[in-house]
Amino acid sequence: MTVFDIAIVGGGPAGLAAAERTLAAGLSTCVIDEQQRPGGQILRQPPSAFSVPGWLTGAPYRKGRALLANVSDDAKLHWLGGQSVLGITPDPAGETGFTLALSGTMGGVSEVRAKRVLVAGGCYDMPVALPGWTLPGVMSAGAVQTLVKAQQVLPGQRIVLFGTHPLMIVLAKQIIEAGGQVEAVCFAQSLKRMAKAALAHLPRAIATPAPLIAAAGGMAALRRAGVRIRYAAPVLRCEGEGQGGVEQVVIAGPNGEEALACDLAAMCYGFLPQADLVRQAGAGVRWSRPAGGWEAVHDGAMRSTVPGLYVAGETTGVAGSDAAMAEGAIAGLAIAQDAGALNEREAATAMRGPRSARKAMQGFIGLLRAVADPCPWLPAASAETLLCRCEDIAAGAVDRAIADALSVGPSFGASAIKLRCRAGMGLCQGRSCEHALVRRIAAARGCGEGEVEGFRPRFPARPLAIADLLEDAG
Ligand SMILES: Cc1cc2nc3c(=O)[nH]c(=O)nc-3n(C[C@H](O)[C@H](O)[C@H](O)COP(=O)(O)OP(=O)(O)OC[C@H]3O[C@@H](n4cnc5c(N)ncnc54)[C@H](O)[C@@H]3O)c2cc1C
Repeated sequence: MTVFDIAIVGGGPAGLAAAERTLAAGLSTCVIDEQQRPGGQILRQPPSAFSVPGWLTGAPYRKGRALLANVSDDAKLHWLGGQSVLGITPDPAGETGFTLALSGTMGGVSEVRAKRVLVAGGCYDMPVALPGWTLPGVMSAGAVQTLVKAQQVLPGQRIVLFGTHPLMIVLAKQIIEAGGQVEAVCFAQSLKRMAKAALAHLPRAIATPAPLIAAAGGMAALRRAGVRIRYAAPVLRCEGEGQGGVEQVVIAGPNGEEALACDLAAMCYGFLPQADLVRQAGAGVRWSRPAGGWEAVHDGAMRSTVPGLYVAGETTGVAGSDAAMAEGAIAGLAIAQDAGALNEREAATAMRGPRSARKAMQGFIGLLRAVADPCPWLPAASAETLLCRCEDIAAGAVDRAIADALSVGPSFGASAIKLRCRAGMGLCQGRSCEHALVRRIAAARGCGEGEVEGFRPRFPARPLAIADLLEDAG
């Protein structure tokens, strides 16, 4: 079996920027992604059979598209699209480095071996359990965006966006450009609070003005389209009759509760880093601030705490695509150096550009995190609200399990709750509910979320049909 010099999990801006450097250094490079085509979340490509005029032509996409074209056109790139990485195992003998277990659209489980692995798995929408969130027609903003970007499909006619994250502005603009109707964009936080948070970071954020200009342009486009942008409008619940789907979202308005009619409600409270494989490999992670989830820790050259395993992009914390590209480039250069393709001086010189680009972005990253911080605004789940959708476990049952664990002793983690009530035991392996569980445990224990141990990470990192495992065993 081929042993690649480097296997990169994730073909988004971080993974592609790393591949650009490892290919240039002459390393055999394989990029694996669940998506059929490279680009990641921000540059999600429609299927190759689609013809989409004007696909992501705006200024924020220019740099990423140039990278995408450069790496995709490289004949030396070994692209494995439509393949999910389920597991990562360091080779105990240390000769082949790592074995990755993959499942693809054709079924079965296959393996890829590589001397080194970079995990650039990006982030995913933070699911927030509020009353009515399991109604048909309540979706995450990212899911709506994926349908609009990659499939040119509008999943609703009258759309309300709610949450705390400014990505709602980008999405509302994309929905309108695709011919949809946005009834309202509801920010839970007040405009004054957003402005105060932004102003505190503005002097440093101005060093990278492009995203600020893009945000202002987005707001102006929404105003021209007559979209209502509401501030201090936290959503309390989504409502609809039976299985007919969502019919309205209820916000706490200035004059009491107010219902906004819609046939699609999209939540956008932020994003969680995707570090499941990093955790499976036993590498260090920490609680990601402010939105939560686990982010990979690393040194200044994006090396994780496990030798031969590197991390880049939003797996290390949500910071936007330009930061992801810079981190990917640094990781690619470190890999080339560790593989002996670049000497220390060459690597250090080449890292200067992406390092200073990453540093320049710190102001904007701080601004975005402060403005979008969901923590004060997370809606309350009722006792009946499902917290774990895979196993149908309601918040009340989770709280009873937490109280039971607390009666035994104060230092328990998410796995103790999973064993008591099955929360996190289903198909998604806790990707949806773990952050909510950790927050509830931390509140009950009276400690920080970072002090609560998350679920023990296990194979498979993605759902897998039993038949595929059996086929592999046979
Ligand atoms: C739904 C969503 C929409 C977003 N939209 C925008 C936007 O419009 N504008 C913006 O500025 N930012 C957006 N962001 C933030 C954006 O993702 C980043 O700024 C940027 O794409 C990060 O680059 P990355 O390379 O770190 O990760 P990504 O671009 O997310 O790439 C990671 C890739 O890893 C793959 N992957 C992860 N785990 C596995 C696995 N186990 N097996 C195989 N493949 C795997 C994923 O399929 C993905 O393609 C969005 C984020 C999300 C989650």
